[in-house]
Amino acid sequence: MTQGAPGSAEGPKKLTILGSTGSIGCSTLDLVKRNPDDYRVVALTAGRRVQELAAQAKEVGAALAVIADESLYGELKEALSGSGIEAAAGGAAVDDAAARPADMVMAAIVGAAGLPPTLAAIRQGTTILLANKETLVCAGDFMSAELSAHGATLLPVDSEHNAIFQVLEDSQPDAIEKIILTASGGPLRTRELHEMRDVTPAQAIAHPNWDMGAKISVDSATMMNKGLELIEAHYLFNMPSEQIDILVHPQSVIHSMVAYVDGSVLAQLGSPDMRTPIAYSLAWPKRMKAPVERLDFAKVRELTFEDPDPKRFPALRLTRTALEDGGSAPTILNAANEIAVDAFLNERIRFTEIAETVEETLQSIDPQQLDSLDAVFETDRLAREVSADVVARFESGGAAKKVGVG
Ligand code: NAD
Ligand code: MG
Repeated sequence: MTQGAPGSAEGPKKLTILGSTGSIGCSTLDLVKRNPDDYRVVALTAGRRVQELAAQAKEVGAALAVIADESLYGELKEALSGSGIEAAAGGAAVDDAAARPADMVMAAIVGAAGLPPTLAAIRQGTTILLANKETLVCAGDFMSAELSAHGATLLPVDSEHNAIFQVLEDSQPDAIEKIILTASGGPLRTRELHEMRDVTPAQAIAHPNWDMGAKISVDSATMMNKGLELIEAHYLFNMPSEQIDILVHPQSVIHSMVAYVDGSVLAQLGSPDMRTPIAYSLAWPKRMKAPVERLDFAKVRELTFEDPDPKRFPALRLTRTALEDGGSAPTILNAANEIAVDAFLNERIRFTEIAETVEETLQSIDPQQLDSLDAVFETDRLAREVSADVVARFESGGAAKKVGVG
């Protein structure tokens, strides 16, 4: 999904960050601040953390700061007064920020909420650095069509996809036998099956290797994250489900691999620090320095691998089936998962009920082909409604169909 290098050969690259106050947003700004001559920040956007957003905008001299929650406009305006930085609020203002001319837009909002601004960025024909995998999961076909229609470029930030991008010889697609997505297995990889039901939000977000936002941390604990990444890889690299394997690798040193028809396997390795894939996407097609811990192989000592346990992680089956069914299935799966994860984080449902909510939502909505972006948004809305009902039933102690764990 690449066209050409972003921006002009010389001078700072103009950069917008959607979701600047999040984990990926902050890591991106860390790299930008270390290379002040190379980047000029056009716009920063955030959901609700208004003071943090204002401080970031002042620190990097952004032209515009946008808070998605409209009720926080006054607070943002006041925090930016005298700085010369433009303030705006609301969803449409986030979309407008994404449409402002920039050489690169970092898409780092969490969830399908990132779809409208990511589309706005694509429609200006720029380079999108994509962290926000949920957008590709819920609207992959339409994003691909918009990317070609507007001559935009998509660079993967997700560490696995960034690794694949680094080792993929796409001039010879027939030579690629398989993509191997590695997965840490998350914090519950070795937990007894009967204990999974009682896992708390604090236990689920305590990732052994990566420091990330709450939603993706829960997704890592259910391994829904790897399932979403399977669908993400399908769209990014145009690979069918059967050519994408998932392999548990608890050390998170190999970030993913590509196997070729001659038996060669190419891998990208590094410390588990998102600043490496972010740096790769910011500097592409060049490389830039990143302040990450260097790999010390003598200390790492061993790299181990195992197949994921389908009983412990039913999300893997659900995502694989959704990808193979196609049409509205991935959109429904993603929306239901967002609702379920939010309910789990708010202690309304149990850990194992996340996958159960997703499965029941998928079974409750007739699958269909999606023929427009409007149909995607309508499916997303419907799936949120249905999954909210499933959540409410779990919350009130109602029984549900079991999906493998319990
Ligand atoms: P996060 O929760 O730390 O940050 C999310 C950002 O989005 C925040 O700035 C928040 O203010 C903003 N936001 C949230 N809801 C919004 C809304 N409705 N409208 C506008 N803005 C909104 O999340 P994160 O961990 O940085 O992850 C961001 C994305 O990157 C996710 O899609 C995640 O799957 C992906 N990703 C993250 C990592 C990681 O290491 N954190 C790695 C790979 C991929
Ligand atoms: Mg990842």
